[in-house]
This record gives sequence, structure tokens and C-alpha cells, in this order.
Amino acid sequence: MNNPSAATATNVSKIYGHGDSEVRALDDVSVQFETGKFTAIMGPSGSGKSTLMHCMAGLDEMTKGSVTIADIDIASLNDKELTRLRRDKIGFVFQSFNLVPTLTADENIRLPLLLGNNKGNEEWIQKVINTVHLQDRLTHRPSELSGGQQQRVAVARALASEPAIIFADEPTGNLDSTTGNEILSFMRKAVDELGQTIVMVTHDPVSASYADRIVFLKDGKIAFLMSYYKLPTKTFLKTNDITGEK
Ligand code: ADP
Ligand code: MG
Repeated sequence: MNNPSAATATNVSKIYGHGDSEVRALDDVSVQFETGKFTAIMGPSGSGKSTLMHCMAGLDEMTKGSVTIADIDIASLNDKELTRLRRDKIGFVFQSFNLVPTLTADENIRLPLLLGNNKGNEEWIQKVINTVHLQDRLTHRPSELSGGQQQRVAVARALASEPAIIFADEPTGNLDSTTGNEILSFMRKAVDELGQTIVMVTHDPVSASYADRIVFLKDGKIAFLMSYYKLPTKTFLKTNDITGEK
């Protein structure tokens, strides 16, 4: 795959409801998420952050526009193909961990692969487990793990299939700041050391500072974009207005 963009939204609009109760949750949004980069999506409550993530992940149907994931136009897929794309190409991390309580950490991590009748790449899975430091917790069930450990299992589960992109919606929202920072460091490591692509919704500027780039939404539109340029001795912050990215 030569496309530097793991996921692209082009002129995406999403309208909920009809007539007087109509809500334009996304208004003509175009954005690209580059492969091997960590992007944060910020914006006030109700600005469309979750809606953008759901439309891009094929969890919610958009009203207008198009989305590609790993060069695949999701509108061209039937339900079964879309389910397969979500399972094989997209990883999800939610605020509420969403682990299966009766399964061990190891089983939870492998569950999406097992559902797809896929053993996965064992070398990769071990690398992921090591990266999130879960080696000695694999036989524990979620109730025997702390919140931070549960979210580490969820991050490992999202990484297990070596997806094209991971969408995380407020992944540290239920964690104290120390544990939250640990999760953010793991996600940063997954990008830097494992070459993964992560898009994370957050309203916390400290969490967003782990990202390479911040997309700000306001009233369903992209208000502005910010990129960090890291050099050995210095970090540059560059702000772009909507008209001229780069
Ligand atoms: P954010 O994640 O930035 O807080 P959302 O994407 O959840 O915002 O919501 C954007 C707008 O769309 C809000 O005005 C919200 O009330 C509305 N909205 C979201 N989901 C639905 C839904 N299922 N039905 C109707 N309106 C919705
Ligand atoms: Mg939200």
C-alpha cells in the first residue's frame, strides 16, 4: 500500500433527525489520517468528534460524502464485508474498556481474531503484549485487573490484528491521570515502535500532546489543525487554518 493515508474522509456530512429536530453533527468534513501517525481529535462536547470517528469506522452511516480505510471505499462494501473490514483493519478502544468479563486477558486480546477464524501472527501478538507490559497478567479476568490494566488489555486487543488504523474514543476518560499517561505512552509506543496508526478523541490537552497532530472540531466542522514537529532538541508547533494544511 503506497497511500500515505490510512483513512480519509471526503466531504462527510452527518445529519441526525428530520425537520425541526434536525442536527447537523458533521458538516462537510474532509480529513486524512496519515499512516504511522498519532492524531488527536479535540473540540467541545457535541462538536461531532464521536460522530466523525463512528462514520469513519463504518459504525454509523454518513448522510453525504465518502470514507476510505486502507484504500477501500467503505460505501462499496455490503454488511458482511463491512463487518470483516472492521474486524481485520480497524481497532477500537473505548472509554469503558468493553472487555468480556468471563474471558482472561489473553482470550480478550485474541477474541477479534478468533471471531474471524484467524490465529493471527503470534510473533506480532507477543510483541504487542510485551509493549503494553501484560506478560504476567494474561491469565487474569477483567475483574482481577485494575482499570489501567484493563485498558492495556483493550489497547492490546485493538492492536492484535495489526489493523490499518485504531480509533480510540476518550480512552483515558475513566482513568486517573497517572494511569492515563501510561496508556497514552503505550499508544505513542505503538505508533513509534510498531508503526501503528492511531486516531484518538480527547478533550484533554495533556492527552492530545502525545499526538503528532491535533484536529479541532467545532459545530461539526474542522476549525483548525495543529501539528507537532519533533526534532532532537526542539518541538515545533504549527497551526494551520482550514484552507491550507501543510
Ligand atoms: P462529541 O463526541 O464531540 O461530544 P457527538 O459526535 O457525540 O459529539 O455529537 C455531535 C452532535 O450530534 C451533538 O449535537 C449530538 O447531540 C448529536 N447526536 C449524536 N448522536 C446522535 C443520535 N444518535 N441522534 C441524534 N443526535 C445525535
Ligand atoms: Mg463523544
